[in-house]
Amino acid sequence: MSAVKHTFKAEVNKILDLMVHSLYSNKEIFLRELISNASDAIDKARYEALTNAALAEGGEGWQIELIADKEAGTLTVRDNGIGMSEAEAVEVLGTIAHSGTKEFIKLLESREVENNPELIGQFGVGFYSAFMVADKVRVITRKAGAAADAAVIWESESDGTYTIEKTTKEGKGTDIVLTLKEDEKQFLEEYELRRVVKQYSDFIEYPVVMDVTRSKPDPEDKEKTITETEQETLNSRKAIWLKSRDEISAEEYNEFYKHVSHDFSDPAKVIHYRAEGTTEFSALLYLPKKRPYDIFYQDYKIGPALYVRRVQIMDHCEEMIPSYLRFVRGVVECADLPLNVSREILQHNKAVGVIKKNVTKKVLDTLAQMKNDEPEVYAEFYAEFGRILKEGIHHDFERRETIADLLLFESTHTKAGETTTLSAYVERMPEEQTEIYYITGGDRGSAEASPYLEVFKDKGIEVLIMMDDFDDIIISGLEAYKEKLFQSAIKGDLDLGEVNKEEQKTEFGDLLELMKEELKDLVADVRISGRLKSSAVCLVAGEHDMDPKMAKMFEAMGQQVPKGQRILEVNPSHDLIARMKQVFAADKESSRLKEYIGLLYDQALLLEGDKPRDPVAFSASIARLMEEGAKK
Ligand code: ADP
Repeated sequence: MSAVKHTFKAEVNKILDLMVHSLYSNKEIFLRELISNASDAIDKARYEALTNAALAEGGEGWQIELIADKEAGTLTVRDNGIGMSEAEAVEVLGTIAHSGTKEFIKLLESREVENNPELIGQFGVGFYSAFMVADKVRVITRKAGAAADAAVIWESESDGTYTIEKTTKEGKGTDIVLTLKEDEKQFLEEYELRRVVKQYSDFIEYPVVMDVTRSKPDPEDKEKTITETEQETLNSRKAIWLKSRDEISAEEYNEFYKHVSHDFSDPAKVIHYRAEGTTEFSALLYLPKKRPYDIFYQDYKIGPALYVRRVQIMDHCEEMIPSYLRFVRGVVECADLPLNVSREILQHNKAVGVIKKNVTKKVLDTLAQMKNDEPEVYAEFYAEFGRILKEGIHHDFERRETIADLLLFESTHTKAGETTTLSAYVERMPEEQTEIYYITGGDRGSAEASPYLEVFKDKGIEVLIMMDDFDDIIISGLEAYKEKLFQSAIKGDLDLGEVNKEEQKTEFGDLLELMKEELKDLVADVRISGRLKSSAVCLVAGEHDMDPKMAKMFEAMGQQVPKGQRILEVNPSHDLIARMKQVFAADKESSRLKEYIGLLYDQALLLEGDKPRDPVAFSASIARLMEEGAKK
């Protein structure tokens, strides 16, 4: 049967192109990627063999073999794992089948990856890294349990196409045969393979073996030497998470992290411990430095890998960690679970509940410690993951105080880009201040320029600046911190003691009534403002209404938002308002006065970053006013 030619999907070509021309200096990691895939394939076969012994195909001698053929110039990575069917080979080696593809292509096009080839690792394109060192890659694979002649050869020279051909293969599993590039032949040398395996794959659970040939004196004739070939295991195979901390170097921790996370950078923090008690388990967990591109996607896989007596049961066990800590990567091993544990069992298993609780506490404690001992490292971490952590306020009622302690916000008293904790804010609060003030908004600049902060600025009162789109929901859920209530600067009636509202009400009451009447279809109330200093008016939401930015976000997502009625606030010390009062006193029915009222409302919309109701009429009014002004 002859080979059938296929063309790669465009995105695969882009990736291949990148690999072939890669400037990445660390090309040897291709071996880590292939060994890691081989190890995953064995994990799968071993797990499935628990319920279908036929898949083990006559033995448990799981292993990964490296075969260096100097004559042919090829390096083969062979495993006896799960293997691939023809359809699977086409599917997984010819496309990039995950939802992040678009982002990845964007990244490729941005050229960012050329300067930071490490980014590639986040996208699970491990297999293609073989093309960094090989002109040609041939994959010979047979699915465990399938007939010997159901094997296939997949082959590509990264020229935009690959071929598929049926073949026969005795053993189950996969051979990846690399025809090495002329200047990458060092990967045929024993010492080099030994070094690379040791460095990157030492903890791999299965033996990585290689035939090693040694010369030794001939026992018959001491003058002569004979050569002897023996299979040697290159990795120590110690499950790193079961070792004690002092046995593990920082490099080993980092390498293992890269193995479990598919991240190329080192982690921000390692959490390694053994829990004793009713449920005993070992956990090796990592906090990453950078947010994975897909962490906000639905199909992002949550949770550490779960091992039971050194068998990997699942690569991501989401029952072990709350989703607001989904950035945590690593391994949990627990002997108290059955080997053939299913998702349903996990959901109701007591030991799992205990582990989850324990792991959650440990991670939160670690974050608290980082925040106190290494504030800069924590701030960097928080910039990447704070938005996710914050979800915990909403979802984990029991721990929301603990999580609140971990939050960071910019404030009117921090420099741009610098943050404060809630507890530091509360400590700075002057005695007479009873509430924690915050403003939500798109960015710092617009928050700071906002009319809503005029009196705060004037009086030097610190306001937290919250820039995440769902901060308002989070803060409403939190309600209070250290018994201080949160108060939005853009919602509700504020009284910072700036104006005597009662006095002003008597002074301006009639004018306010007229405004209310004029704007009755647009606002629920018109009142004297306690927050304005230089602007004449602003619109605010009711105390319990959703914040306008939030409401817009929900509407954009197609959701119904209850329409809270807005309130127009008026600054009594503004000249414009004083002037209106005069016009009002002279002629309550003045049509000019009504026009002013409409204009004020439109101005308030503008100040919020919105459009006036009728831009044409609005500019016509302004033009007329300017003309009048110029005539005077
Ligand atoms: P990832 O491992 O992140 O999924 P890769 O590009 O390294 O990405 O591999 C793509 C897919 O190809 C794997 O998910 C797996 O389905 C398949 N694959 C790769 N190597 C092997 C192997 N040795 N045995 C079985 N399947 C493999």
